[in-house]
Amino acid sequence: MTIIDQLIHGFSRLPGVGKKSAGRIVYFLLKADTDYLNTLADLIKRLKPSIRTCGVCGTYTESELCNICSDSGRDSEHICVVEESKDVQTIESTGVFNGTYHVLGGVISPIDGVGPEDLFIRKLLARLTPNFSEVEVKEVIIATNPTIEGDTTALYLVNLLKNTDITISRLALGLPVGGDLEYADKLTLSRSLNGRTKLS
Ligand SMILES: [Zn+2]
Repeated sequence: MTIIDQLIHGFSRLPGVGKKSAGRIVYFLLKADTDYLNTLADLIKRLKPSIRTCGVCGTYTESELCNICSDSGRDSEHICVVEESKDVQTIESTGVFNGTYHVLGGVISPIDGVGPEDLFIRKLLARLTPNFSEVEVKEVIIATNPTIEGDTTALYLVNLLKNTDITISRLALGLPVGGDLEYADKLTLSRSLNGRTKLS
């Protein structure tokens, strides 16, 4: 296989990129500026070694704590629970939430052999105990995707937290059933966040 073929094959594995788009990318790179290519290659090489998960919320970060957890201007009384790091970015882009996040690292999915113990749930419970920090958490907003697995995970968390004084809510209005947070437009997501419903 030629380098061009290998690169087309490599890029076609990226999410949302088919073989045709992969070809377009490779031919674009062939004509691109060498500095741009070197920077891009260097950043890709450094990506994995430089990124770790935040010690508090589990989102991807380059330091021990992420930008949100280390920002004293954020309201730590509200924690928004999401499936993946990319969901933090999606919700942040709406600009309507000033609380903090907790990344589960997936959802409960018996078919795929993923149980609650495989997710970042113990750390969430630790954050909710009054002695974890000076701030007492008042509300947990469950923002898992509106899928069967997302709903199962939400229900599991509701049951886990039902005997606490913490308000539990879930994103509801506007999100399409079976959809993915990543593909919701900002307006839909803002409405869902503002119109969240109390579960317990
Ligand atoms: Zn964090």
